[in-house]
Amino acid sequence: MSHPKILHAADWRWAIDRRCAECGTDASRLDLPTLAGLFRGSAPRFALALSAPGIKVRKDPGRWSVLEYCSHVRDLLSVTTGRIELMLEQDSPVFDDWNQDAAATHYETADPLEVADQLGGEARLLARTLESIDPTDVHRRGRRSDGTGLSILAAARYAWHDVAHHLYDVGA
Ligand SMILES: [Zn+2]
Repeated sequence: MSHPKILHAADWRWAIDRRCAECGTDASRLDLPTLAGLFRGSAPRFALALSAPGIKVRKDPGRWSVLEYCSHVRDLLSVTTGRIELMLEQDSPVFDDWNQDAAATHYETADPLEVADQLGGEARLLARTLESIDPTDVHRRGRRSDGTGLSILAAARYAWHDVAHHLYDVGA
């Protein structure tokens, strides 16, 4: 019952516009085809990280284990694809809240091979979704429940920084 809360409390919205000083990623100018390639290319790196020893160890109490970070990335990819599909289907949809802490309660008992496999599937699905988007649709928007607006392009850039930051977190 004592799952540490908010190991991943960061709000990366600023990272849509500028370089992250910690992981060095600058997603602010990336277009959808480039982002698709980056998401696809990240999956083998996470899979490699998951195949190393000690993936369930939290090296620092304020950080997740490799397994937890990778499980989170899998879910993040899935949520991002869902939100982008919604923005393509509807005008200015409001996204469901994603409770990251509730999702994380199952991460430490996940099967690493399954996580690697699922993460790969989600990365490919997001990449295909981005590649299928007509350039005139990249500025279609959606809103989070707190009212923050986001375009498809911004959502993809936001997700890429999040994924890249976790590549950095897991040393991949
Ligand atoms: Zn970063």
